[in-house]
Formats: sequence, structure tokens, C-alpha cells
Amino acid sequence: MIAGNNNHNETALDVALQQMNEAADLIHLDQSTRNLLSKPKRVLSVAVPVQMDDGSVQVFDGYRVQHNLARGPAKGGIRFHPEVTMDEVVALAMWMTWKCAVVDIPYGGAKGGIVVDPKKLSIGEIERMTRRFTSEISMIIGPEKDIPAPDVNTNPQVMAWIMDTYSMEMGYSIPAVVTGKPIEVGGSVGRADATSRGCVFTIIDLAGRIGLDLEGATVAVQGYGNVGSNAAFMLEDLGCKVVAVSDVEGGIYNENGLNTRAVADTVRESGSVVNYPDAEHISNDELLVLPVDILVPAALENQITGRNAKNVRAKVIAEGANGPLTPEADAILRDKGCIVIPDILANAGGVTVSYFEWVQGIQALSWTAEQVQRELKRRMTTAFEAVYSYAQEEKLDMRTAAYVIALKRVAQAIKLRGVYP
Ligand code: NAD
Repeated sequence: MIAGNNNHNETALDVALQQMNEAADLIHLDQSTRNLLSKPKRVLSVAVPVQMDDGSVQVFDGYRVQHNLARGPAKGGIRFHPEVTMDEVVALAMWMTWKCAVVDIPYGGAKGGIVVDPKKLSIGEIERMTRRFTSEISMIIGPEKDIPAPDVNTNPQVMAWIMDTYSMEMGYSIPAVVTGKPIEVGGSVGRADATSRGCVFTIIDLAGRIGLDLEGATVAVQGYGNVGSNAAFMLEDLGCKVVAVSDVEGGIYNENGLNTRAVADTVRESGSVVNYPDAEHISNDELLVLPVDILVPAALENQITGRNAKNVRAKVIAEGANGPLTPEADAILRDKGCIVIPDILANAGGVTVSYFEWVQGIQALSWTAEQVQRELKRRMTTAFEAVYSYAQEEKLDMRTAAYVIALKRVAQAIKLRGVYP
């Protein structure tokens, strides 16, 4: 289980299964399909030996999980984090299955992870670890099989090493084996900030539906990495007042609004938001319960649970992270009237532009920034409208509505394909 505010020792996998089962009950999903979807299709556990700079060899545990491939090849990020567990990777792979189905892109769900604190490794050690991990999982990844992407503590450089290692093993360049690559080696324009852009599109769509004026709306963002920082920039550009942000070291608050790009400069120079001068220090726990219009959790799982949900005062929560709220928190927030844009919709912009990158790679074409943004907007808004309308019609929260839409699509694909042999 990932660190957080979870008092109940509920793992990410417990949460993922409970969410799926609630939606499955609602649509009376047959038991066989439910059994099939409760387990990952394939789990690969690998030992990753790495020659360290001091000459010693350290062995890291790594995983690649493919949850369900009924709708297409497997797709999902790779995470480097000391608290990665196999169960967590299974949960994240399961969420990818639903996410790809909600935005209707032709993929199944996957995820990967290495149990490591990359902050304790040199660049050379991270490169050797990435390459050996890629080699260990190379029998199940590939542009038509399973396409990794960035997640927590992995970035375009790591994707370039994955692409290069896989290509070297196959003997020719295969850019479409991975997405989130640097543009120079086949990446797509607009991928780096796509998760945040998609998340902000869902916030704009929701604001329109509920009459929330984004000009001057207050925002708190937990996690200031790829997803959190880019979301903060875009929300500030829309006229929102980003009053608080945080990272693993702690949070900062300024009631007049933070200069989000200056905060990012501080992170680049010093490693953390806490060194930003023009703000008060707050804890991550305090950030989550600030009285803001919009809260964007963009760090890790299990941050808002039965323990702290009753104190949350945000009107809207847009889940940039995967699994930041537990089902118990969801129920408490629903009763309080807080609207949650669920992860499988709110952060689906990343995998959507990854899909565009993969399509461009396979066709050896490159799209313009305008094409990427237009197509992302179209797909996110279509998915948002489907989820929001279904939730309204059936008097459901948006997470349950998104799950029902996703489960129906995946279940239909399973039914059409049948059980082999
Ligand atoms: P990242 O490594 O770029 O940033 C993670 C941020 O979270 C950092 O600021 C880190 O300091 C902070 N953090 C880590 N542990 C924390 C803790 N215990 N408390 C508070 N802050 C903490 O990662 P990212 O790519 O921005 O991913 C963030 C979340 O978004 C993850 O849940 C990830 O699965 C999800 N996500 C990412 C993408 C993507 O395209 N990168 C796509 C969809 C979902």
C-alpha cells in the first residue's frame, strides 16, 4: 500500500475491486465476466540486477501487469517508487482497462513498476536499471502487444531508454513500443502535458454544467510533478487562483494565489515546492482540507479516505492521480455534495495522447499541436458528456457512471470474442 491517509489498511487493489464490483452489481454483470475481470490476465515479476556506480550489484523487484486485452493491446505507464507492490500494479493496470474504455481508445489495461527510490540512484544507475528492466519484460511488450508510458518518477528520457533497449534487442528501431518519448525520437507534440490538459478540459466541462465561474475560482493541487504542475499552470492561465500546492516534502499556501511557473522554477532549482519564498508552509493533510473551489490530487493513491473525507471542503475534486480517493471517502463526499471527476475520466488525457503518439508511430506521420489538442478536446468532451449525462439520468455519481460505461464496453468485447478455446 502506498503511503497516505489510509487508516484502514485498504490497498489500491481492494479499492479497485470494490469500485468494479459496485458498478458490476448495478448492471447485473454476470458472474463469469466478473470473475474474469477480477484477475489480471498476465503478471510478470522480474528481478532487475544493476551494476551500481561503486561496483556493487543491487537487485530491484519489477513488475509488468496486463489486466485485460479484450479491446486491444495493453497500455499503461511504468512507475519507479519505493512503495510499489505487485498488488498496486495490478490495481493500476485494472484502472487502465476502464480508462481506455471510458475514452474509447482501442487498448486494454496494463501497468509496470520497479520498487526503487530513484532519488537515491545516479542517472547512470537509473539508465542501467531501466534498460535491464526493459530487457526482462521484452517478451511481453511490443507495439502490437503492450506499450508502456511514463508514470510516477519516469519521464521522456526513461521512455527513450526503453525504446532504444527494445530496438537494440530486435535489431531495428521500433519507436511505437513506448509512448511519452522525446519528440526527437518519435514522441508526439502535446504528450508531455496531455494528462493535465485532459484533466483541465473535464474541469471546464463540469464548470459549464454546474455554473462554476473559473475566473477567480480557488484551486489546491497535491503533487507538483508532471500532472500537478501542468494542471496548475493551465488553471492559472484560465484565471483560477492556485492558492496551494504540495509535493512529497510538504505544501505551500498563499491566499492571493501562487505564481505557478515560479513555483516550478523553485522545484527545478531546489527539488521541492517548500523552498518557494512567497508562501506559508502547510502539510499535505492541511492542503487536502482547504476551503477551495477545486482540489486536484495529483500525487498517489489513498490520499482522501474515511479518516479525512469529512473535513474536505472543496466543491469539486478532479482526480489527476490514480486512486486518490477510497470508496469510503467517495460516499462521504457524495453526501456532502462534493462533485468528483473520477480518475478514469479526469486523467485519461495522457493515455489518449499516448494513443495518438502510437498511431503516429505506426504510420510514421507527425501531427501538429493543433491536431493533437483538437482531437484530445473532442475525445475528452465526448467522454465527459457521456459520463455526466449518464450520471444525471441514473442519479449516480460520476465515478459509478464512468465505471458502468467502461464495464459495459469491456464486457461486450469479452462476449463478442468468446472464451478461447
Ligand atoms: P511525477 O513523478 O511527475 O510527480 C509526482 C508528484 O507527487 C511529485 O511532486 C512528488 O513529490 C509528489 N508526491 C509523491 N509522493 C507524495 C506524497 N506521499 N504526498 C504528496 N506528494 C507526493 O508523477 P506524475 O506523472 O505527475 O503522476 C502523478 C499521478 O498522476 C500518479 O497517480 C499517476 O499514476 C497519475 N497519472 C499520471 C499520468 C502521466 O501521464 N504522467 C497519466 C495518468 C495518471
